[in-house]
Amino acid sequence: MIEKQHIIDRFKSYVTIDTESDPNSNTTPSTQKQWDLANKLVEELKQIGMEDVTIDDNAYIMATLPSNVSHPVPVIGFISHFDTSPDFTGANVNPQIIENYDGKDIVLNKEQDIVLSPEYFEDLLLYKGQTLITTDGTTLLGADDKAGITEIISAMEYLINHPEIKHGKIRVGFTPDEEIGRGAHKFDVEKFGAEWAYTMDGSQVGELEYENFNAAGAVVTVKGKIVHPGYAKGKMINSMYIATDYINSLPRLETPEHTEGREGFFHLHNIQGTVDETKIQYIIRDHDREHFEARKEMLEELANDINEQHQREAVTVEIKDQYYNMREKIRPMMHIVKIAKKAIEEVGIEPIMKPIRGGTDGSQLSFMGLPCPNIFAGGHNFHGRFEYVPVESMIKATEVIVKIAELTAQDISKFKSEEE
Ligand SMILES: [Zn+2]
Repeated sequence: MIEKQHIIDRFKSYVTIDTESDPNSNTTPSTQKQWDLANKLVEELKQIGMEDVTIDDNAYIMATLPSNVSHPVPVIGFISHFDTSPDFTGANVNPQIIENYDGKDIVLNKEQDIVLSPEYFEDLLLYKGQTLITTDGTTLLGADDKAGITEIISAMEYLINHPEIKHGKIRVGFTPDEEIGRGAHKFDVEKFGAEWAYTMDGSQVGELEYENFNAAGAVVTVKGKIVHPGYAKGKMINSMYIATDYINSLPRLETPEHTEGREGFFHLHNIQGTVDETKIQYIIRDHDREHFEARKEMLEELANDINEQHQREAVTVEIKDQYYNMREKIRPMMHIVKIAKKAIEEVGIEPIMKPIRGGTDGSQLSFMGLPCPNIFAGGHNFHGRFEYVPVESMIKATEVIVKIAELTAQDISKFKSEEE
């Protein structure tokens, strides 16, 4: 139904344009080069026949596929991002096509001896016999999230060419700067005007996600007292020892390397210390909102305990919330997840539903008033030279979008029946 070579060509035309974002820039988009792809996407959306195609001053793109039915249907949206991660270069991407993958090592780069091996990346074996797109070993691929863009545009094109498929009004949104955490920041939810949307930004074929971490960052500052070491008795206070006490008082097993599933953690990711002052940085993650709040309190209480013990303001804690679990916003409208799940099943894929141990743009958008579960885009090993995407997964994702459009225009009350 969806033509394979067409998907490959479209995907290649996007990934060969460098759109790396930059966390050190204050502009939106964070890099000028993101306009190169943004402008191309605007032209392409117009060319396939989308209506109301707009791009704003910050390079946020929106477009409409009008409804082709007369009865009222909720307006839904599909969203992906066109920037790539600053973790690895996205310049001069040279995609390699591996047809009929045989399940063995893939030599990405002979000269530099860079091999993509199923011994290390077992997921490769899921795609035996399929067509893989890989890098040449020197850049990332950018399937994150140009696979998502390929799928959304291809699905819209398909719907336009197949008016016998009935659907409501569909909105499309492409954003810059997702990889530096700002994709949702300037997203005009009101202008988008959808009741709900899906980000096409997941990984393995079948993934459907509507739970993510609650997230905060904490900076713990410990003040000491510097005195000449030779004359320090009873006077010097070494902030690094107090900091060590602080660190050791937190539950040692509630760390990223000891947790999985819905288990939360404290992640110590930076320490900088002198006798006079030590700064300790944590990120706090928990799927459960109450546990999340309790973790933040624990950081404060621990500081209070130490201050009492030292009878001075030795430790101060500054905590900033980063994002929240979208589950809170999606639970009251579980039909939006059920529709996606049904769509995935109908294209012959087993849905994989697991909590995300991270955040998505969809979690921010959900709290901005646009509930937004995340669906697979098909790529693996994001943000590095081993990134790859099976073409068959991109085709499946395209079909899922078409299916969701179709299901939403039918009687959706059956999906609402056992809503929580
Ligand atoms: Zn992404």
